[in-house]
Amino acid sequence: MNVHLLGAHECESQNSKLISLLIDDVLAIDAGGLTSSLSLPAQQKIKAILLTHQHYDHIRDIPAIAMNLYLAEARINIYATSPVYDALTAHLLNDKLYRNFLEQPPEKPTIKFTIIEPLKPQQISGYSVLAVKVNHSVPTVGYQITSPDGKTVFYTGDTGPGLTNCWEHVSPRLLITEITASNRYEDFAREAGHLTPSLLKQELISFRKLKGYLPQVVTVHMNPRLEKEIEAEIADVSSALDNSITLGYEGMQLDL
Ligand SMILES: [Zn+2]
Ligand SMILES: [Zn+2]
Repeated sequence: MNVHLLGAHECESQNSKLISLLIDDVLAIDAGGLTSSLSLPAQQKIKAILLTHQHYDHIRDIPAIAMNLYLAEARINIYATSPVYDALTAHLLNDKLYRNFLEQPPEKPTIKFTIIEPLKPQQISGYSVLAVKVNHSVPTVGYQITSPDGKTVFYTGDTGPGLTNCWEHVSPRLLITEITASNRYEDFAREAGHLTPSLLKQELISFRKLKGYLPQVVTVHMNPRLEKEIEAEIADVSSALDNSITLGYEGMQLDL
């Protein structure tokens, strides 16, 4: 399994892109940095996009990739929970802001949307996919993806602390987790449903207690302005837990 981090930040700039992961070139999770990272043929190779939640930085490229595929007479499968579907159809895919690719072209719409339910494993493009609820300001799920040869990654989506229930359902070899802010912003992080290095440390301690091991950990969704601080604080957590925890970055390739 190859996991390619297309976007690893919560702000977009010349040097940072919004969140998107791509697995084996065919399965994308979140759509913040898809179109700006991939050639048109690479976009056409994607079979399915999983969305963790409705926030703009995670869904932004849906209309953009749909237009590219529409012009190529191609199609894409999008999977998300029902609150995300409701938000997208109410506010984005509605023929007001842009063409509604859920219904266009009428004979074969570009987007085929499937609603998924948390904790009901599903086969998507050959992968076993499990959505697990996490703790953010809007309904959000993380995704555990298991490849046909049994390699497993879990991506948290945006989440605050309190992941013990979530950990009960997943057993990844690689954990891609959000870290949005540095430790001095803990109050903000708790309120907005995000993690800091010290909050992640507590979550990893609870993971190890429950599972008896720790996975390799890569962090995403950093505020670029806090990245140096986050990096130093993550290094402390990594050595305290004696486990590999590294910052993700755009273009990073992780092979399992
Ligand atoms: Zn969010
Ligand atoms: Zn976000």
